[in-house]
Amino acid sequence: MKTIKDLNIDGKKVIIRCDFNVPIKDGKIVDDTRIKGALETIKYCLDRDCKVILLSHLGRVKEKEDLKKNDLSIVAERLAKLLKQDILFSEETRGEELEDTVNSMEEGDVLLIQNTRYEDLDGKKESGNDPELGKYWASLGDVFINDAFGTAHRAHASNVGIASNLPSAAGFLIEKEVNVLKELDKPTHPFVVVLGGAKVSDKIGVIENLVHKADYVLIGGGMAFTFLKAEGLEIGKSLLDEENIDFCKKILSKYKDKIILPVDVAVTNEYTNDEKYRTKDIKDISTDEMGLDIGEKTVNLFESILKKAKIVIWNGPLGVYEFSKYKVGTDKILKYVVDNNIKTILGGGDIVAAATTAKLKDKVYHASTGGGATLEYLEGKKLPGIEIIK
Ligand code: AMP
Repeated sequence: MKTIKDLNIDGKKVIIRCDFNVPIKDGKIVDDTRIKGALETIKYCLDRDCKVILLSHLGRVKEKEDLKKNDLSIVAERLAKLLKQDILFSEETRGEELEDTVNSMEEGDVLLIQNTRYEDLDGKKESGNDPELGKYWASLGDVFINDAFGTAHRAHASNVGIASNLPSAAGFLIEKEVNVLKELDKPTHPFVVVLGGAKVSDKIGVIENLVHKADYVLIGGGMAFTFLKAEGLEIGKSLLDEENIDFCKKILSKYKDKIILPVDVAVTNEYTNDEKYRTKDIKDISTDEMGLDIGEKTVNLFESILKKAKIVIWNGPLGVYEFSKYKVGTDKILKYVVDNNIKTILGGGDIVAAATTAKLKDKVYHASTGGGATLEYLEGKKLPGIEIIK
C-alpha cells in the first residue's frame, strides 16, 4: 500500500479525507479521539509547507433537519485548539466561494470543508460515489491522502471518488490500522479469536473466515446462547438468533475442539441493572432466566487459553457491558490481557467503548478505530477505500 511518505507533497495542495465523525451531545463534542487521531498526518503535511484541505463526514444526512446537527464547523473549532492555529472553514461543499478560499490559501493554511454528507441531501452524491463530485473535490488539490479508516469499507465520493482522480496514498492512521490487521493474515500461533456481542448473524463472516486459521475461538456475549441452544441446552429468555441455530450446529460439529463456549453465566429475570442476579452453571438456566454475562468459571477458562496466545483478535463484549453488573466478565478479560501483555487487537465498536470505559484502551496492543471496516477486513473482504490507493 502506498503511504504518504511515498508521495512528494512538498508545498502542494493536499486533500486529506479524515474521520471526524465525532460523538456530539447537547452541541458539544464528547470525545475528540478521532480528531486527535488525524493530527499526525496533518502535521506531517504542515511541516512540508503544504496547503491542507480536509474533508470528513459527520453523522447521516437524509433530511434538511439533519443539516444543522451535523454541521462540521464544531470540529474546525476543536481542531484549531489542538493544532494551535486558525482553521479556515467552508460552509459549502462546493461552489465559487469554496474555490476562492482554496485559491487564496497560503502554505501552512488548513481548510476544513463542510460535512461531505451534505451532498447526500440531493441524491446521495457522496454515499453513492457520484463521479462528478469525486472529480470536483479532486480538482481542488494536487494529491490525495486517505486517512479515514472508519469509512474505508465504503466507496464514497470523498474517498474512492477523489482517489480515482489524483495521485493518492494512505495517511498514518490508515497505515497503522492496516499494518496491525495484516498481522492476522498469517498469524503467529496460538492465535485466539474472542467473539461477543449481540447477534450471531453479525459475526458469521468473521467466524467463517477466521475459524480455520485460529487455534481457539472463545465465544461469549449474547451470541453464545445461540451456540448453546444448538448444543441442546436450555437458554431461557437469553438472546437467541433463531435463524442461525443451524449455522452454529454446523460450525460446532466441524470445529468442536476449537470453539469454546461459556460454562457458567450471570443470570437474572429482567433485562435491567436493578434486579438481583446469580451465577449459574450453563446447564442450569431456567426458562424464566436470561444470561447477561459470563461467569467466573468461564473467565478462568478463557484466561487459561489466552495465557498461551501469541496474538488475539477480540470483537464484541462478553456481556451487557452497559450495565455495571454485567460488564464484569468483559472487564476481567480486558484486564487479564493487559496485565499479562497478551498481544490483543480490539476490533472496533463496542469492545473499544468497553475498554475506554474501563480505562484500558490505551494499554492494549491495538484498539481499532473502525467498527464496520475492521469487521469487513476480518471477514476477508477487500476495503474499497484501501484498494483504490493500492
Ligand atoms: P455487537 O455490536 O454485536 O458487538 O453487540 C454489542 C451489544 O451486545 C452490546 O450492546 C451488549 O449489551 C450486547 N450484549 C452482550 N452480551 C449480551 C447478552 N448476554 N445478552 C444481551 N445482549 C448482550
